[in-house]
Amino acid sequence: MNDIIVPDKDPMGRAIFDFYSTGKAAKLRVLSSMFYEDEIPVATLFRSYGDMPLPEQQALSLAKGRVLDIGAGAGCHSIELMRRGHDVVAIDISELSVNVMRERGVDARPINLFDDTFDEKFDTLLMAMNGVGIVGRVERMEQFFRCVKRLLTPGGQLLLDSSDIRYIFENEDGSMDIDLAAGYYGEVDFSMRYKNIKGDKFDWLYIDFDTLCFYANENGFECEKCVDGEHYDYLARLTRTADKKIPV
Ligand code: SAH
Repeated sequence: MNDIIVPDKDPMGRAIFDFYSTGKAAKLRVLSSMFYEDEIPVATLFRSYGDMPLPEQQALSLAKGRVLDIGAGAGCHSIELMRRGHDVVAIDISELSVNVMRERGVDARPINLFDDTFDEKFDTLLMAMNGVGIVGRVERMEQFFRCVKRLLTPGGQLLLDSSDIRYIFENEDGSMDIDLAAGYYGEVDFSMRYKNIKGDKFDWLYIDFDTLCFYANENGFECEKCVDGEHYDYLARLTRTADKKIPV
């Protein structure tokens, strides 16, 4: 669970590596038992500030102090934050992506967010591009918030974006095409393919703002929405509830 992905199991990392070293990449295919096959345009993983959606741009503006970019990919947010003068550490489970980020000048480390031996402190934790997806399932929220507590300085903040994917299952009359008793509708299984590299299946979580707030509150966090995106996406800012209490 707290593993690192090695290169021969890492389609996205290989795509990032190819794009960085040659300026182009083959198709990065995304498969799921729930959706039709899709692809991630690899160039978008190298997007600049101007090409980022509003919730990501807003996250970069709200970042303060020392920042941990979690699941940093090719490092596009880390690089913009460094340009703005922040002290930034990037972590990712992809060795290939970490190597590319290092080449790009980022202090990148091959670390899994759920590895509790990593206990440096940060004023801002950033999870971008449906960054909270790496939590996988809502039942992991408690474990996730334990990690967040371990990594945040007092008064620190977690900035994350996600989407409410209810629209995918909703009919015009508002009824839903899914079995609501089967679990939370934002839990999706994915796997990726790039050239001849097949990645393992993984769980990916899309979470609507109200459900996020519910789990945040349960685990001692306040949750506020900073901005809505253009397609059911949003940016949220989470802070420790304890930070707000006035000592008596
Ligand atoms: N934030 C980047 C990349 C998003 S893709 C961007 O916005 O462009 C998600 C990234 O999270 C991938 O690079 C993947 O390797 C990484 N990742 C997935 N699970 C992780 C985990 N448990 N800990 C750290 N990184 C993880």
